[in-house]
Amino acid sequence: MKIFETVKQSVTARQAAKAYGLEVDVHGMALCPFHDDHHPSLKLDQRFYCFGCGASGDVIDFTAKLFGISPREAVQKLAEDFGINPRPPTEVHIPKRHAEPRPDLERLCICVLRDYLRLLRIWRLRYEPAEPGEPMDDRFAESCQMEATVNFFLDALIVGDPAPRERVLEVLVKDGSIYELQAYVGKRKKEEPGHAGKYQPCA
Ligand SMILES: [Zn+2]
Repeated sequence: MKIFETVKQSVTARQAAKAYGLEVDVHGMALCPFHDDHHPSLKLDQRFYCFGCGASGDVIDFTAKLFGISPREAVQKLAEDFGINPRPPTEVHIPKRHAEPRPDLERLCICVLRDYLRLLRIWRLRYEPAEPGEPMDDRFAESCQMEATVNFFLDALIVGDPAPRERVLEVLVKDGSIYELQAYVGKRKKEEPGHAGKYQPCA
């Protein structure tokens, strides 16, 4: 049962509600997703309570009710979405009080991939062989090879479910691939006549 406690200590109902798309105002009030609510009557904090329909509980109850899943599944979902280790190291475990689904890293990946995609599209237009049989420019070849993959990654990051999104993030961040790609795109953009100035650098 330890994971139940770990999740409850790591994520508040308010954080989960925000992460799952509820608009929570500065007072912690939101439109209640559990009844037909027209004025925010759901109070969110460590726990949640609705003044309209009486729904209440902790972050696990909230997530279970919101997605129509069991408490055990809700714990799993929260652990995945907030990067909480289900088997924390035995020595000392410091709960992540401000666990968030790594928005900065995600934003960097999306920015670098979009930048790369723009470059690939320029290459595809600019270096397409004029005649069939003409030797293929490396840049044109790269654009043909990579565009679908980059699009796939972007889709997964922007509109994907949490599980595939996490996997894509892992692939991009492992071994620093995204930083290598960032450096590579930056360098190749500079070589491209007339286009370098149009790009926004990724923060
Ligand atoms: Zn309600």
